[in-house]
Amino acid sequence: MTYVAPGDPHELARSVRAGFADHYGREASVVGRAPGRVNLMGEHTDYNHGLVLPVALPHATYAAARLRDDPADGLVRVASAQQAEPWEGQLAAVGPGTVDGWAAYAAGMVWALHERGHEIPGVDLYVDSTVPLGAGLSSSAALECSVGVAVAVALGLPLTPELRRDLVSAGMAAETEIVGAPTGGMDQTIAMLGEAGAALVIDFDLPEDRGRSTQVRLGLARHSLLVTDTRVSHALVDGGYGQRRADCEEAAAVLGLSSLRDADLDAVARIADDRVRRRARHVVTEIARVRECVDALAAGDLDSLGRLFADSHLSMRDDFEISCPELDVAVAVAVEAGAVAARMTGGGFGGSSVAVVPDERVDAVARAIDAAFALEGFTPPGHLRAEPSPGAGLEG
Ligand code: ADP
Ligand code: MG
Repeated sequence: MTYVAPGDPHELARSVRAGFADHYGREASVVGRAPGRVNLMGEHTDYNHGLVLPVALPHATYAAARLRDDPADGLVRVASAQQAEPWEGQLAAVGPGTVDGWAAYAAGMVWALHERGHEIPGVDLYVDSTVPLGAGLSSSAALECSVGVAVAVALGLPLTPELRRDLVSAGMAAETEIVGAPTGGMDQTIAMLGEAGAALVIDFDLPEDRGRSTQVRLGLARHSLLVTDTRVSHALVDGGYGQRRADCEEAAAVLGLSSLRDADLDAVARIADDRVRRRARHVVTEIARVRECVDALAAGDLDSLGRLFADSHLSMRDDFEISCPELDVAVAVAVEAGAVAARMTGGGFGGSSVAVVPDERVDAVARAIDAAFALEGFTPPGHLRAEPSPGAGLEG
């Protein structure tokens, strides 16, 4: 059994600078860092104006940047240690649908900063990451936010709380408008605002999807968060996320509400269409579970935590239909092997599970999942230890 290492931040900053210098033949001026995340409760609730409860991972993306020397140049160049294909183009030509593939996340972030009124002469960017890509751990927001921090600081902007908020909405704009992925605001919010040792409860009941976030100290003495990447990529079933979002909009419309946030469970039970009713039931019960989970975590109430994680997993499996056999096995085996709580996490259709495990049982749980995957003939999973870590910043 092996764990995906988060890497040493200083070492990774040094290595992304070296990658930049190799690629562009000049030195980077700044390195931005932004973490991946694991969500503890609240799946598909952000775009329903509900609540989520993510934790920032120690695994992060590092972006080395240098502004182009000629202020009239306007060229954006991006390259990644994780991708064979670099990209370059004029900033003025970046817009919805104009950049294909991974580069849309990075170039989209530069575009979003420009849209927010920042003068950008053009920029070279090189990124490297220890966040698994497409594993439901938000490598996409880690990419956007690391680029956002690097470019903003290269422009001479101080990394104030206002700038952090601005980078959250810039990242959301990059992902929804330039990449074209209809995601909510959880990922960018935790990437920019996460704090070591804490989860964030983010409430999206505000206009323009601007979440209000509050820290929750984790009362999980002698327990760790074990994340298991099933290696089933949700990118393979593109469209499922958007369909769920459309189902939720339909449910809200049937109920005569602007979002499912304030929907009443009795009213939900009367929705005639079976699929739409189950989608709404997941969202409404999941929002309630976030509130209960915050209390259980603060109190170190592991029994309640176990029940909430189990209910959440069943709700995602049966009502929202976003689980898969690998996730169901990872969750069931984690609990059998000694986890006090386990559920799938992230947008679903593959991706990762998260378990709360007594420290001395972490290796045994990871090994039991490996054995079960081998027996089922699944691809071997990857495991991560999710020590709650700080949000984005400058590095090295
Ligand atoms: P998740 O955010 O859960 O990892 P997404 O599908 O939202 O999954 O985003 C994954 C995509 O983001 C990748 O397929 C790739 O296009 C892009 N990406 C993320 N991190 C990097 C990186 N370090 N280098 C290049 N592209 C990346
Ligand atoms: Mg993502």
